[in-house]
Amino acid sequence: MSTDVRAKALGYLRDGRVTVSAATFAGLARVPYDVLAYVDGYRSTYIVRLVLDTWACSCATAGCPHVAAVQLVTGHPSVARKDAEAKDSAVLAEPPARTA
Ligand SMILES: [Zn+2]
Repeated sequence: MSTDVRAKALGYLRDGRVTVSAATFAGLARVPYDVLAYVDGYRSTYIVRLVLDTWACSCATAGCPHVAAVQLVTGHPSVARKDAEAKDSAVLAEPPARTA
């Protein structure tokens, strides 16, 4: 469904436009519960936050590729993740089996 968001999110990552400035972890958790990141867009730099389980981006667009890019690089479930329909990857003990 979100091929466009996925393509844009991967583009930001590929071009080195994503900077995670702060990430707070509980104990040895693999996935941070609090995130501050910057995404250098083509028109502006966007600030992406994860606070209290809520993602927000300064572009104020629901389902934007900036949040998706930061979700990918911080290990959070994301519409841009290839196995987005699979179980919440944040709680998996091992990577999902490859099907291809
Ligand atoms: Zn955004």
